[in-house]
Amino acid sequence: MSNIRVRFAPSPTGGLHLGGVRTVLYNYLFARQQGGSFIVRVEDTDQGRFVEGAEQYIFNCLKWCGLEPDESVLHGGPFAPYRQSERKPSYRQYADQLVKEGHAYYAFDTPEELDAMRERLKASGSGSLQYDHHIRMSMRNSLNLLPEETEKLIKDGVPYVIRIKINANEFVSFTDMIRGEMEFDTNNVDDKVLLKADGMPTYHLAVVVDDFLMQITHAFRGEEWMPSAPVHILLWKFLFGLDAMPQWAHLPLILKPDGNGKLSKRDGDRLGFPVYAMDWTDPKTGDLTKGFKELGFLPEAFINLLAVLGWNDGTEQELFTIQELTDKFSISRVHKGGAKFDYEKAKWFNHEWIKKLPVTAYLPQVKEIFAAKGINIDDEAYFITVLNLVKERCSLLPDFYEQAAFFFNAPTSYDEAAVKPKWDEAKKDFFTMLIRNYTELEDWEIETAENTCKQLATEKNIKIGELQMILRVMLVGSKMGPGVFAIASAIGQTDTCKRIENAIAVFG
Ligand code: GLU
Repeated sequence: MSNIRVRFAPSPTGGLHLGGVRTVLYNYLFARQQGGSFIVRVEDTDQGRFVEGAEQYIFNCLKWCGLEPDESVLHGGPFAPYRQSERKPSYRQYADQLVKEGHAYYAFDTPEELDAMRERLKASGSGSLQYDHHIRMSMRNSLNLLPEETEKLIKDGVPYVIRIKINANEFVSFTDMIRGEMEFDTNNVDDKVLLKADGMPTYHLAVVVDDFLMQITHAFRGEEWMPSAPVHILLWKFLFGLDAMPQWAHLPLILKPDGNGKLSKRDGDRLGFPVYAMDWTDPKTGDLTKGFKELGFLPEAFINLLAVLGWNDGTEQELFTIQELTDKFSISRVHKGGAKFDYEKAKWFNHEWIKKLPVTAYLPQVKEIFAAKGINIDDEAYFITVLNLVKERCSLLPDFYEQAAFFFNAPTSYDEAAVKPKWDEAKKDFFTMLIRNYTELEDWEIETAENTCKQLATEKNIKIGELQMILRVMLVGSKMGPGVFAIASAIGQTDTCKRIENAIAVFG
Protein backbone atom coordinates (compact mmCIF):
# COMPACT_ATOMS: atom_id res chain seq x y z
CA MET A 1 0.00 0.00 0.00
CA SER A 2 1.20 3.51 -0.79
CA ASN A 3 0.89 6.28 1.75
CA ILE A 4 -1.84 7.96 -0.30
CA ARG A 5 -4.84 8.43 1.97
CA VAL A 6 -8.14 9.98 0.88
CA ARG A 7 -11.35 10.42 2.76
CA PHE A 8 -15.05 10.89 2.30
CA ALA A 9 -16.37 12.86 5.24
CA PRO A 10 -20.17 12.81 5.24
CA SER A 11 -22.35 14.47 7.82
CA PRO A 12 -25.19 12.11 8.72
CA THR A 13 -27.98 14.55 8.02
CA GLY A 14 -30.24 12.66 5.60
CA GLY A 15 -30.31 10.90 2.25
CA LEU A 16 -27.14 10.53 0.20
CA HIS A 17 -27.28 12.86 -2.81
CA LEU A 18 -25.81 11.60 -6.08
CA GLY A 19 -23.22 14.40 -5.82
CA GLY A 20 -22.09 12.80 -2.56
CA VAL A 21 -21.74 9.43 -4.21
CA ARG A 22 -19.72 10.99 -7.01
CA THR A 23 -17.41 12.50 -4.38
CA VAL A 24 -17.01 9.04 -2.88
CA LEU A 25 -16.36 7.58 -6.30
CA TYR A 26 -13.63 10.03 -7.28
CA ASN A 27 -11.92 9.53 -3.91
CA TYR A 28 -12.27 5.78 -4.22
CA LEU A 29 -10.94 5.63 -7.79
CA PHE A 30 -7.95 7.75 -6.89
CA ALA A 31 -7.16 5.62 -3.84
CA ARG A 32 -7.45 2.36 -5.79
CA GLN A 33 -5.41 3.66 -8.67
CA GLN A 34 -2.64 4.89 -6.38
CA GLY A 35 -2.68 1.80 -4.20
CA GLY A 36 -3.73 4.01 -1.31
CA SER A 37 -6.41 3.91 1.37
CA PHE A 38 -9.97 5.15 1.23
CA ILE A 39 -11.31 6.34 4.56
CA VAL A 40 -14.86 7.24 5.52
CA ARG A 41 -15.05 9.57 8.48
CA VAL A 42 -18.42 10.49 9.92
CA GLU A 43 -18.60 14.24 10.62
CA ASP A 44 -21.37 14.41 13.18
CA THR A 45 -20.30 17.35 15.31
CA ASP A 46 -23.37 19.36 14.38
CA GLN A 47 -25.79 17.69 16.76
CA GLY A 48 -28.57 20.02 15.62
CA ARG A 49 -28.47 18.51 12.14
CA PHE A 50 -27.90 14.91 13.24
CA VAL A 51 -30.49 12.52 11.82
CA GLU A 52 -31.11 9.08 13.26
CA GLY A 53 -30.29 6.27 10.85
CA ALA A 54 -28.48 8.46 8.32
CA GLU A 55 -25.05 7.03 9.10
CA GLN A 56 -26.10 3.42 8.58
CA TYR A 57 -27.93 4.49 5.44
CA ILE A 58 -24.76 6.07 4.01
CA PHE A 59 -22.83 2.83 4.56
CA ASN A 60 -25.65 0.86 2.95
CA CYS A 61 -25.41 3.10 -0.10
CA LEU A 62 -21.65 2.64 -0.33
CA LYS A 63 -22.10 -1.10 -0.09
CA TRP A 64 -24.68 -1.14 -2.85
CA CYS A 65 -22.35 0.93 -5.06
CA GLY A 66 -19.46 -1.42 -4.31
CA LEU A 67 -17.38 1.45 -2.93
CA GLU A 68 -16.22 -0.15 0.27
CA PRO A 69 -13.89 1.88 2.49
CA ASP A 70 -10.63 0.53 3.88
CA GLU A 71 -11.14 2.35 7.16
CA SER A 72 -14.35 3.62 8.73
CA VAL A 73 -16.71 3.40 11.66
CA LEU A 74 -17.79 0.00 10.32
CA HIS A 75 -14.47 -1.23 8.97
CA GLY A 76 -12.28 -0.05 11.85
CA GLY A 77 -8.68 0.98 11.23
CA PRO A 78 -5.54 2.38 12.83
CA PHE A 79 -6.99 5.87 13.33
CA ALA A 80 -10.21 4.89 15.10
CA PRO A 81 -12.59 6.25 16.18
CA TYR A 82 -13.85 7.42 12.78
CA ARG A 83 -16.87 9.25 14.18
CA GLN A 84 -16.05 12.81 15.17
CA SER A 85 -18.44 12.94 18.11
CA GLU A 86 -16.34 10.16 19.65
CA ARG A 87 -13.19 12.18 19.07
CA LYS A 88 -14.53 15.20 20.96
CA PRO A 89 -11.73 15.28 23.59
CA SER A 90 -9.03 15.48 20.92
CA TYR A 91 -10.03 18.87 19.48
CA ARG A 92 -9.97 21.09 22.56
CA GLN A 93 -6.17 21.27 22.79
CA TYR A 94 -5.94 22.68 19.25
CA ALA A 95 -8.51 25.36 19.98
CA ASP A 96 -6.59 26.25 23.15
CA GLN A 97 -3.33 26.36 21.25
CA LEU A 98 -4.84 28.78 18.74
CA VAL A 99 -6.07 31.05 21.52
CA LYS A 100 -2.69 30.94 23.23
CA GLU A 101 -0.91 31.86 20.04
CA GLY A 102 -3.28 34.71 19.27
CA HIS A 103 -5.02 33.08 16.30
CA ALA A 104 -8.33 32.58 18.05
CA TYR A 105 -10.31 34.13 20.88
CA TYR A 106 -13.11 33.50 23.34
CA ALA A 107 -16.47 35.02 22.41
CA PHE A 108 -19.18 35.31 25.07
CA ASP A 109 -21.90 36.89 22.95
CA THR A 110 -25.38 35.59 23.67
CA PRO A 111 -27.76 34.72 20.83
CA GLU A 112 -29.59 38.00 21.57
CA GLU A 113 -26.36 39.97 21.29
CA LEU A 114 -25.59 38.29 17.99
CA ASP A 115 -29.06 39.12 16.70
CA ALA A 116 -28.61 42.71 17.79
CA MET A 117 -25.26 42.79 15.98
CA ARG A 118 -26.89 41.68 12.75
CA GLU A 119 -29.68 44.23 13.17
CA ARG A 120 -27.11 46.96 13.67
CA LEU A 121 -25.19 45.89 10.59
CA LYS A 122 -28.37 45.75 8.56
CA ALA A 123 -29.41 49.21 9.72
CA SER A 124 -26.01 50.62 8.85
CA GLY A 125 -26.42 49.29 5.32
CA SER A 126 -23.46 46.96 5.65
CA GLY A 127 -23.32 44.34 2.89
CA SER A 128 -22.05 41.74 5.33
CA LEU A 129 -23.76 40.54 8.50
CA GLN A 130 -20.78 38.50 9.58
CA TYR A 131 -18.84 38.41 12.81
CA ASP A 132 -15.51 39.60 11.43
CA HIS A 133 -12.66 42.04 11.83
CA HIS A 134 -15.01 45.00 11.31
CA ILE A 135 -17.29 44.17 14.17
CA ARG A 136 -15.36 42.00 16.60
CA MET A 137 -13.95 44.92 18.59
CA SER A 138 -17.49 45.96 19.48
CA MET A 139 -18.52 42.51 20.70
CA ARG A 140 -18.13 40.66 23.98
CA ASN A 141 -14.96 38.67 23.40
CA SER A 142 -11.48 38.23 24.77
CA LEU A 143 -10.00 40.59 22.19
CA ASN A 144 -12.14 43.36 23.54
CA LEU A 145 -12.26 42.52 27.26
CA LEU A 146 -9.45 42.86 29.78
CA PRO A 147 -7.68 39.56 30.49
CA GLU A 148 -9.03 39.48 34.04
CA GLU A 149 -12.59 40.06 32.75
CA THR A 150 -12.24 37.15 30.37
CA GLU A 151 -10.83 34.98 33.11
CA LYS A 152 -13.71 35.85 35.41
CA LEU A 153 -16.35 35.10 32.82
CA ILE A 154 -14.78 31.71 32.17
CA LYS A 155 -14.49 31.02 35.92
CA ASP A 156 -18.13 31.99 36.42
CA GLY A 157 -19.12 29.42 33.83
CA VAL A 158 -20.46 31.95 31.29
CA PRO A 159 -20.85 30.03 28.03
CA TYR A 160 -18.41 30.91 25.27
CA VAL A 161 -17.30 29.79 21.86
CA ILE A 162 -13.82 29.98 20.40
CA ARG A 163 -13.57 31.88 17.14
CA ILE A 164 -10.71 32.04 14.66
CA LYS A 165 -9.19 35.52 14.35
CA ILE A 166 -8.95 36.36 10.68
CA ASN A 167 -6.68 39.31 10.00
CA ALA A 168 -7.85 41.89 7.50
CA ASN A 169 -5.98 42.70 4.29
CA GLU A 170 -4.23 39.40 3.75
CA PHE A 171 -4.36 36.91 0.94
CA VAL A 172 -4.38 33.15 1.36
CA SER A 173 -3.97 30.79 -1.51
CA PHE A 174 -3.64 27.14 -2.45
CA THR A 175 -3.35 25.12 -5.65
CA ASP A 176 -6.48 23.17 -6.42
CA MET A 177 -5.84 19.96 -8.39
CA ILE A 178 -8.71 20.84 -10.74
CA ARG A 179 -8.85 24.62 -10.66
CA GLY A 180 -5.21 25.59 -10.25
CA GLU A 181 -4.17 28.58 -8.17
CA MET A 182 -6.97 29.86 -5.90
CA GLU A 183 -6.60 33.05 -3.92
CA PHE A 184 -8.83 34.50 -1.19
CA ASP A 185 -8.98 37.97 0.30
CA THR A 186 -9.30 37.66 4.09
CA ASN A 187 -11.44 40.81 4.13
CA ASN A 188 -14.29 38.60 2.95
CA VAL A 189 -13.78 35.87 5.53
CA ASP A 190 -15.57 35.86 8.88
CA ASP A 191 -14.28 34.75 12.26
CA LYS A 192 -15.79 31.27 12.15
CA VAL A 193 -16.62 29.47 15.37
CA LEU A 194 -14.11 26.64 15.91
CA LEU A 195 -15.27 25.27 19.25
CA LYS A 196 -18.86 25.49 20.42
CA ALA A 197 -20.10 26.26 23.94
CA ASP A 198 -20.57 22.54 24.65
CA GLY A 199 -16.93 21.85 23.78
CA MET A 200 -17.82 20.24 20.48
CA PRO A 201 -15.70 21.42 17.55
CA THR A 202 -17.37 22.82 14.47
CA TYR A 203 -16.77 21.25 11.09
CA HIS A 204 -13.98 23.73 10.35
CA LEU A 205 -11.77 22.77 13.25
CA ALA A 206 -12.64 19.08 13.18
CA VAL A 207 -12.00 18.61 9.46
CA VAL A 208 -8.53 20.14 9.67
CA VAL A 209 -7.52 18.33 12.87
CA ASP A 210 -8.77 14.98 11.60
CA ASP A 211 -7.27 15.32 8.15
CA PHE A 212 -3.99 15.91 9.96
CA LEU A 213 -4.33 13.16 12.57
CA MET A 214 -5.56 10.65 9.99
CA GLN A 215 -2.64 11.54 7.68
CA ILE A 216 -4.91 12.41 4.79
CA THR A 217 -2.85 13.22 1.69
CA HIS A 218 -5.62 14.27 -0.73
CA ALA A 219 -9.05 15.72 -0.07
CA PHE A 220 -11.61 15.79 -2.89
CA ARG A 221 -14.81 17.49 -1.89
CA GLY A 222 -17.70 19.39 -3.39
CA GLU A 223 -17.28 22.87 -4.78
CA GLU A 224 -19.68 24.17 -2.14
CA TRP A 225 -16.80 23.90 0.34
CA MET A 226 -14.58 26.32 -1.56
CA PRO A 227 -15.71 29.34 0.53
CA SER A 228 -14.46 27.49 3.63
CA ALA A 229 -11.03 26.93 2.11
CA PRO A 230 -9.40 30.13 3.44
CA VAL A 231 -10.41 29.27 7.02
CA HIS A 232 -9.05 25.76 6.61
CA ILE A 233 -5.82 26.97 5.04
CA LEU A 234 -5.25 29.34 7.93
CA LEU A 235 -5.94 26.58 10.43
CA TRP A 236 -3.41 24.38 8.66
CA LYS A 237 -0.91 27.21 8.71
CA PHE A 238 -1.43 27.97 12.41
CA LEU A 239 -1.60 24.39 13.68
CA PHE A 240 0.35 22.01 11.51
CA GLY A 241 2.16 24.02 8.85
CA LEU A 242 1.13 24.36 5.22
CA ASP A 243 3.50 21.59 4.15
CA ALA A 244 1.36 19.08 6.01
CA MET A 245 -1.81 20.17 4.19
CA PRO A 246 -3.41 17.58 1.91
CA GLN A 247 -3.76 18.38 -1.77
CA TRP A 248 -7.26 19.56 -2.43
CA ALA A 249 -9.61 19.24 -5.36
CA HIS A 250 -13.01 20.90 -5.34
CA LEU A 251 -15.37 18.90 -7.52
CA PRO A 252 -17.84 20.68 -9.80
CA LEU A 253 -21.48 20.86 -8.78
CA ILE A 254 -24.06 18.59 -10.30
CA LEU A 255 -26.56 20.99 -11.83
CA LYS A 256 -30.30 20.92 -12.44
CA PRO A 257 -31.22 19.62 -15.92
CA ASP A 258 -31.59 23.21 -17.20
CA GLY A 259 -28.18 24.10 -15.81
CA ASN A 260 -29.69 26.64 -13.44
CA GLY A 261 -28.09 25.98 -10.06
CA LYS A 262 -27.26 22.98 -7.95
CA LEU A 263 -29.44 19.89 -8.32
CA SER A 264 -31.45 19.41 -5.13
CA LYS A 265 -33.76 16.75 -3.78
CA ARG A 266 -36.62 19.16 -4.45
CA ASP A 267 -35.75 19.23 -8.17
CA GLY A 268 -36.00 15.46 -8.21
CA ASP A 269 -39.41 15.54 -6.52
CA ARG A 270 -40.59 18.26 -8.89
CA LEU A 271 -39.31 16.68 -12.10
CA GLY A 272 -39.94 13.08 -11.13
CA PHE A 273 -36.50 11.54 -10.90
CA PRO A 274 -34.32 10.27 -8.06
CA VAL A 275 -31.55 12.32 -6.52
CA TYR A 276 -30.66 9.99 -3.65
CA ALA A 277 -28.68 6.78 -4.13
CA MET A 278 -31.21 4.65 -2.22
CA ASP A 279 -34.68 5.10 -0.73
CA TRP A 280 -34.53 7.42 2.23
CA THR A 281 -37.28 7.75 4.81
CA ASP A 282 -37.09 10.86 6.93
CA PRO A 283 -37.40 9.53 10.50
CA LYS A 284 -39.20 12.68 11.67
CA THR A 285 -41.81 13.13 8.95
CA GLY A 286 -41.92 9.55 7.65
CA ASP A 287 -41.58 10.97 4.11
CA LEU A 288 -40.05 8.54 1.64
CA THR A 289 -37.72 9.79 -1.08
CA LYS A 290 -37.08 7.28 -3.82
CA GLY A 291 -33.55 6.21 -4.63
CA PHE A 292 -31.78 5.06 -7.79
CA LYS A 293 -31.47 1.54 -6.41
CA GLU A 294 -35.14 0.99 -5.70
CA LEU A 295 -36.19 2.55 -9.01
CA GLY A 296 -34.25 -0.20 -10.72
CA PHE A 297 -30.79 1.14 -11.47
CA LEU A 298 -27.84 -1.23 -11.49
CA PRO A 299 -24.89 -0.17 -9.35
CA GLU A 300 -22.58 -0.57 -12.36
CA ALA A 301 -24.69 1.92 -14.30
CA PHE A 302 -25.05 4.31 -11.38
CA ILE A 303 -21.28 4.42 -10.88
CA ASN A 304 -20.69 4.80 -14.59
CA LEU A 305 -23.12 7.67 -15.03
CA LEU A 306 -21.70 9.47 -12.00
CA ALA A 307 -18.13 9.01 -13.18
CA VAL A 308 -18.84 10.83 -16.42
CA LEU A 309 -20.84 13.62 -14.75
CA GLY A 310 -17.86 15.93 -14.66
CA TRP A 311 -15.09 13.75 -16.06
CA ASN A 312 -14.13 12.06 -19.31
CA ASP A 313 -11.08 10.17 -20.46
CA GLY A 314 -10.50 12.40 -23.47
CA THR A 315 -12.15 9.99 -25.91
CA GLU A 316 -15.76 9.40 -26.94
CA GLN A 317 -16.05 6.39 -24.62
CA GLU A 318 -19.02 6.57 -22.27
CA LEU A 319 -19.35 3.07 -20.86
CA PHE A 320 -16.75 2.17 -18.27
CA THR A 321 -16.41 -0.71 -15.85
CA ILE A 322 -15.14 0.14 -12.40
CA GLN A 323 -11.80 -1.40 -13.38
CA GLU A 324 -11.55 0.80 -16.48
CA LEU A 325 -12.45 3.80 -14.36
CA THR A 326 -9.77 2.89 -11.86
CA ASP A 327 -7.22 2.63 -14.65
CA LYS A 328 -8.25 5.76 -16.53
CA PHE A 329 -9.48 8.21 -13.91
CA SER A 330 -7.46 11.34 -13.47
CA ILE A 331 -8.40 14.24 -11.24
CA SER A 332 -6.83 16.72 -13.65
CA ARG A 333 -9.41 15.71 -16.28
CA VAL A 334 -12.32 16.59 -13.98
CA HIS A 335 -14.13 19.61 -15.41
CA LYS A 336 -14.18 22.93 -13.62
CA GLY A 337 -17.73 23.79 -14.64
CA GLY A 338 -20.84 22.13 -13.23
CA ALA A 339 -22.31 19.07 -14.93
CA LYS A 340 -25.99 19.07 -15.89
CA PHE A 341 -27.93 16.05 -14.73
CA ASP A 342 -29.99 14.41 -17.47
CA TYR A 343 -32.33 11.67 -16.27
CA GLU A 344 -32.97 10.31 -19.76
CA LYS A 345 -29.22 9.90 -20.18
CA ALA A 346 -29.05 8.22 -16.76
CA LYS A 347 -31.64 5.71 -17.94
CA TRP A 348 -29.66 5.19 -21.14
CA PHE A 349 -26.66 4.16 -19.04
CA ASN A 350 -28.81 1.69 -17.15
CA HIS A 351 -30.22 0.32 -20.39
CA GLU A 352 -26.70 -0.20 -21.72
CA TRP A 353 -25.65 -1.96 -18.53
CA ILE A 354 -28.73 -4.18 -18.52
CA LYS A 355 -27.73 -5.29 -22.02
CA LYS A 356 -24.03 -5.57 -21.21
CA LEU A 357 -24.30 -7.72 -18.08
CA PRO A 358 -25.51 -11.32 -18.07
CA VAL A 359 -29.06 -11.44 -16.69
CA THR A 360 -27.77 -13.57 -13.84
CA ALA A 361 -26.09 -10.40 -12.51
CA TYR A 362 -29.49 -8.92 -11.65
CA LEU A 363 -31.63 -12.03 -11.47
CA PRO A 364 -32.40 -11.81 -7.72
CA GLN A 365 -33.64 -8.21 -7.99
CA VAL A 366 -35.83 -9.01 -10.99
CA LYS A 367 -37.18 -12.11 -9.25
CA GLU A 368 -38.19 -9.92 -6.34
CA ILE A 369 -39.98 -7.52 -8.67
CA PHE A 370 -41.94 -10.42 -10.15
CA ALA A 371 -42.67 -11.88 -6.71
CA ALA A 372 -44.04 -8.53 -5.55
CA LYS A 373 -46.45 -8.73 -8.50
CA GLY A 374 -47.50 -12.24 -7.55
CA ILE A 375 -45.34 -14.20 -10.00
CA ASN A 376 -43.08 -16.61 -8.16
CA ILE A 377 -40.35 -18.08 -10.29
CA ASP A 378 -39.63 -21.76 -9.82
CA ASP A 379 -38.16 -22.53 -13.23
CA GLU A 380 -35.02 -20.39 -13.21
CA ALA A 381 -33.76 -21.61 -16.59
CA TYR A 382 -37.02 -20.51 -18.20
CA PHE A 383 -36.83 -17.18 -16.38
CA ILE A 384 -33.32 -16.59 -17.73
CA THR A 385 -34.47 -17.39 -21.29
CA VAL A 386 -37.33 -14.93 -20.94
CA LEU A 387 -35.17 -12.16 -19.47
CA ASN A 388 -32.69 -12.59 -22.29
CA LEU A 389 -35.51 -12.22 -24.81
CA VAL A 390 -36.60 -8.86 -23.40
CA LYS A 391 -33.45 -7.30 -21.94
CA GLU A 392 -32.92 -5.13 -25.03
CA ARG A 393 -36.21 -3.44 -24.20
CA CYS A 394 -35.53 -2.58 -20.57
CA SER A 395 -34.10 0.62 -19.15
CA LEU A 396 -34.97 0.05 -15.50
CA LEU A 397 -35.29 -3.29 -13.72
CA PRO A 398 -39.09 -3.01 -13.23
CA ASP A 399 -39.36 -2.80 -17.03
CA PHE A 400 -38.64 -6.53 -17.03
CA TYR A 401 -42.02 -7.10 -15.44
CA GLU A 402 -43.79 -4.86 -17.96
CA GLN A 403 -41.98 -6.56 -20.81
CA ALA A 404 -42.16 -10.15 -19.66
CA ALA A 405 -45.19 -10.69 -17.39
CA PHE A 406 -47.10 -12.21 -20.32
CA PHE A 407 -44.64 -15.10 -20.46
CA PHE A 408 -46.06 -16.19 -17.12
CA ASN A 409 -49.67 -15.04 -17.35
CA ALA A 410 -51.78 -15.58 -20.43
CA PRO A 411 -53.45 -12.34 -21.52
CA THR A 412 -56.85 -11.60 -20.00
CA SER A 413 -57.56 -8.75 -22.37
CA TYR A 414 -56.49 -7.94 -25.92
CA ASP A 415 -55.71 -4.95 -28.04
CA GLU A 416 -58.93 -5.52 -29.97
CA ALA A 417 -58.67 -2.18 -31.71
CA ALA A 418 -55.60 -3.50 -33.49
CA VAL A 419 -57.07 -6.89 -34.34
CA LYS A 420 -60.71 -6.06 -35.19
CA PRO A 421 -60.09 -4.36 -38.57
CA LYS A 422 -58.06 -7.37 -39.73
CA TRP A 423 -60.25 -10.09 -38.27
CA ASP A 424 -62.57 -12.09 -40.55
CA GLU A 425 -63.70 -15.64 -41.22
CA ALA A 426 -60.55 -16.41 -43.25
CA LYS A 427 -58.35 -15.42 -40.31
CA LYS A 428 -60.47 -17.39 -37.92
CA ASP A 429 -60.08 -20.48 -40.11
CA PHE A 430 -56.39 -19.82 -40.44
CA PHE A 431 -55.77 -19.76 -36.70
CA THR A 432 -58.03 -22.74 -36.10
CA MET A 433 -55.93 -24.61 -38.62
CA LEU A 434 -52.72 -23.26 -37.14
CA ILE A 435 -53.61 -24.77 -33.77
CA ARG A 436 -54.03 -28.15 -35.47
CA ASN A 437 -50.72 -27.85 -37.33
CA TYR A 438 -48.92 -26.69 -34.21
CA THR A 439 -50.31 -29.53 -32.14
CA GLU A 440 -48.87 -32.02 -34.59
CA LEU A 441 -45.34 -30.63 -34.49
CA GLU A 442 -42.69 -32.81 -32.97
CA ASP A 443 -40.21 -30.13 -32.13
CA TRP A 444 -40.95 -26.63 -30.92
CA GLU A 445 -38.06 -24.52 -32.04
CA ILE A 446 -38.52 -20.89 -33.07
CA GLU A 447 -37.94 -21.79 -36.75
CA THR A 448 -40.41 -24.67 -36.69
CA ALA A 449 -43.16 -22.48 -35.29
CA GLU A 450 -42.32 -19.77 -37.82
CA ASN A 451 -42.07 -22.02 -40.88
CA THR A 452 -45.30 -23.81 -40.03
CA CYS A 453 -47.13 -20.51 -39.78
CA LYS A 454 -45.61 -19.14 -42.99
CA GLN A 455 -46.36 -22.29 -44.93
CA LEU A 456 -50.00 -22.21 -43.91
CA ALA A 457 -50.19 -18.51 -44.80
CA THR A 458 -48.89 -19.24 -48.29
CA GLU A 459 -51.37 -22.08 -48.69
CA LYS A 460 -54.22 -19.83 -47.61
CA ASN A 461 -52.87 -16.86 -49.50
CA ILE A 462 -52.96 -14.50 -46.49
CA LYS A 463 -50.34 -11.83 -45.81
CA ILE A 464 -47.95 -13.05 -43.13
CA GLY A 465 -47.55 -9.53 -41.69
CA GLU A 466 -51.18 -9.29 -40.62
CA LEU A 467 -51.11 -12.80 -39.23
CA GLN A 468 -48.01 -12.14 -37.18
CA MET A 469 -49.56 -9.06 -35.66
CA ILE A 470 -52.70 -10.98 -34.74
CA LEU A 471 -50.71 -13.90 -33.38
CA ARG A 472 -48.72 -11.50 -31.24
CA VAL A 473 -51.86 -9.95 -29.75
CA MET A 474 -53.16 -13.48 -29.13
CA LEU A 475 -50.04 -14.48 -27.20
CA VAL A 476 -49.19 -11.17 -25.52
CA GLY A 477 -52.45 -9.24 -25.35
CA SER A 478 -50.85 -6.26 -27.07
CA LYS A 479 -48.53 -5.45 -29.95
CA MET A 480 -45.39 -5.32 -27.82
CA GLY A 481 -42.67 -7.86 -27.17
CA PRO A 482 -39.76 -9.58 -28.86
CA GLY A 483 -40.08 -11.81 -31.96
CA VAL A 484 -43.48 -13.49 -31.92
CA PHE A 485 -42.13 -16.96 -32.70
CA ALA A 486 -39.50 -16.58 -30.00
CA ILE A 487 -42.37 -15.86 -27.63
CA ALA A 488 -44.29 -18.89 -28.88
CA SER A 489 -41.25 -21.09 -28.55
CA ALA A 490 -40.57 -19.86 -25.02
CA ILE A 491 -44.10 -20.25 -23.64
CA GLY A 492 -44.33 -23.72 -25.15
CA GLN A 493 -46.44 -25.60 -27.65
CA THR A 494 -49.42 -26.30 -25.41
CA ASP A 495 -49.61 -22.79 -24.01
CA THR A 496 -49.29 -21.24 -27.48
CA CYS A 497 -52.19 -23.31 -28.76
CA LYS A 498 -54.29 -22.56 -25.71
CA ARG A 499 -53.68 -18.81 -26.04
CA ILE A 500 -54.65 -18.88 -29.72
CA GLU A 501 -57.80 -20.78 -28.87
CA ASN A 502 -58.79 -18.35 -26.11
CA ALA A 503 -58.22 -15.40 -28.40
CA ILE A 504 -60.32 -16.89 -31.22
CA ALA A 505 -63.16 -17.22 -28.74
CA VAL A 506 -62.85 -13.57 -27.77
CA PHE A 507 -62.42 -12.22 -31.29
CA GLY A 508 -65.43 -14.26 -32.41
N1 GLU B 1 -18.67 17.03 6.42
C1 GLU B 1 -18.57 17.74 5.18
C2 GLU B 1 -19.82 17.38 4.37
O1 GLU B 1 -20.80 17.08 4.93
C3 GLU B 1 -17.32 17.32 4.47
C4 GLU B 1 -16.69 18.37 3.63
C5 GLU B 1 -15.23 17.98 3.35
O2 GLU B 1 -15.03 16.98 2.69
O3 GLU B 1 -14.35 18.68 3.82
O4 GLU B 1 -19.85 17.40 3.17
